[in-house]
Amino acid sequence: MKNTIEVGDKQFGLFIENDSIAKRTRLIGLEINADYEGRCPVFIGVLNGSFLFMGDLLKEVDLSCEVGFIRVSSYEGTESSGAIKEVFGISNNLKDRDVILVEDIVDTGFTLKFILEKMYQQQPASVRICTLLYKPASIQTPIEELEYIGFEIPNEFVVGYGLDYNGLGRNLKDIYRVSPDHISLP
Ligand code: 5GP
Repeated sequence: MKNTIEVGDKQFGLFIENDSIAKRTRLIGLEINADYEGRCPVFIGVLNGSFLFMGDLLKEVDLSCEVGFIRVSSYEGTESSGAIKEVFGISNNLKDRDVILVEDIVDTGFTLKFILEKMYQQQPASVRICTLLYKPASIQTPIEELEYIGFEIPNEFVVGYGLDYNGLGRNLKDIYRVSPDHISLP
């Protein structure tokens, strides 16, 4: 594990180590197991960023459940393009189902708002959101469904553990941030 790393043309500093992610993920899994006991939820991961978190989270879930993924187009580089064009892959079978949407990071909240609008058209019984990272200082639209949060982080661009910088860095085990200082989160 390195304290600083280059991804594309930028230097990033170690921010959240994989061990901390694993511990937090285990706890969220336990919470979900308790909250959904006796039910059969549908987990829907938002690609691409959630692919590692989704895999690790589901290994902690011991409920009978279904698993799927959707995809949206949103950010480029470290800046929001502001445009969310479409949601691909929303199933038509969500009616009366308990849905748990799994995200890598909630920043402005616009992506989730857009996804939720589409999802509610299917009349699910319930929708809750599980996100690994949440930037409370950046949120621009309230998301009531936000239930399970891995880490609240400052408004800084992060990369690793599924999150990319210009397509790179998704395979990093740990999470790094643009500023090279190392801050350990619990
Ligand atoms: P929102 O619509 O909440 O502003 O943005 C959500 C999406 O923006 C995330 O799913 C993610 O793809 C991208 N995003 C927001 N903040 C970051 C960040 O710090 N790093 C990376 N790699 N992507 C981010």
